[in-house]
Amino acid sequence: MGAPETEVLIRQHLIDPEVCIRCNTCEDTCPIDAITHDDRNYVVDPDICNGCGACVPPCPTGSIDNWRTVQKAAAYSVAEQFTWDELPVQQELPAEAAAVDAPPPSDGGQQNAAVSAASTTPPWSAAHPYLNLYDIRRTATATVAGNYRLTDADADSDIRHIVLDFGTQFFPVLEGQSIGILPPGADASGKPHYLRMYSVASARDGERSGYNNLSLTVKRVVTDHEGQAVQGVASNYLCDLQKGDTVQVTGPFGAHYLMPNHPGSNLLMICTGTGAAPMRAMTEYRRRLMAAGKPVEGKLMLFFGARRPGELPYFGPLLKLPPSFIDMHLAFSRVDGEPKTYVQDRLREAGPAVTELLKGDTYLYVCGLKGMEAGVMEALRDICITAGMDWPALHARMVSEGRFHVETY
Ligand code: NAP
Repeated sequence: MGAPETEVLIRQHLIDPEVCIRCNTCEDTCPIDAITHDDRNYVVDPDICNGCGACVPPCPTGSIDNWRTVQKAAAYSVAEQFTWDELPVQQELPAEAAAVDAPPPSDGGQQNAAVSAASTTPPWSAAHPYLNLYDIRRTATATVAGNYRLTDADADSDIRHIVLDFGTQFFPVLEGQSIGILPPGADASGKPHYLRMYSVASARDGERSGYNNLSLTVKRVVTDHEGQAVQGVASNYLCDLQKGDTVQVTGPFGAHYLMPNHPGSNLLMICTGTGAAPMRAMTEYRRRLMAAGKPVEGKLMLFFGARRPGELPYFGPLLKLPPSFIDMHLAFSRVDGEPKTYVQDRLREAGPAVTELLKGDTYLYVCGLKGMEAGVMEALRDICITAGMDWPALHARMVSEGRFHVETY
């Protein structure tokens, strides 16, 4: 016979309202719809949540990873959580309460997480990032300084390079960080649109060096992952912006997907489609350092996948970079008369050069489609096996040293 309801303890999953940036990632990720929100807070329904932890790794702030041991009958309700400005402290529990119904401790979502473990610490030499300077209650207002189509006129996708200017507002970003965009208006249920996150595509000193601006790489979303027609709220809003329009912005976000600053550090970058944004930012920062005669020395190696050359964001400017500065490997999947090629195929072809880099002081970045992750991990493993290297040990070391960064959607 089970213990009386009043004595049963559960580990209740809670979201810290002080840290949460309201990006909807957890609600999107939860496989059993246990997470909901109002115009104030994101909350977890204790009657639905099974503690699976699937929402934990994708959360960009860690606000999701909060737990309180409570008596099941006294669990914090959804209505109560909506009123919170901060999390309650852990209550002392009656001595007679029996832990008989606590869900298994969160494993950080590992069973549902991406196939690759990734670093949750930044490179040791990364610059210190500013975080959460603006939130949905106090946004920064950016002015559109430019909106340029990056893909060919006849390409399948409309990918845009959007430049946002912050005027005199303090909005410092580092390469690899993201910002939140608040589209105006409300969804079908009348709730204000939640914010969407976009990676910064420009270097820390501005899209134009010395200016208080940054750029984003945005693809107009017109279909979902299954190919059904949908109208992406934020992407269509952004892609339609005109020069001079204003945009409400939150952030900056991202404390670990950052580049190393020490001379001699190598960057191994693997991306697809608009996942190029952080790679463009890092490459441009290194290019500016070199142009200014600063010591850089480290190598840059880029693997970049798109359907066709005309769909590859920044194709023209990339081709102008000298091979002595960056070792570039482009993979095209839908070029007439050519075999479908993915970034992982190019990685394998470049195996010896990749292993040379992996043996050194190298920081690896993956960004783009979720689907590429498994293929990239397999390619890295196979390349290491061929070279007689212990990939599981190297991967674990890179993860713990802040040298293995993954951002996929
Ligand atoms: P896409 O055009 O759909 O795909 C880019 C390339 O990746 C295509 O050649 C595609 O080949 C290939 N690909 C598909 N499945 C693959 C797999 N399993 N392994 C390796 N390559 C594969 O890409 P997209 O629509 O631009 O998507 C980019 C992703 O980056 C999105 O999920 C986006 O959310 C994410 N992202 C964007 C930003 C940003 O700031 N904009 C930041 C971070 C991440 P096929 O011909 O087979 O389709």
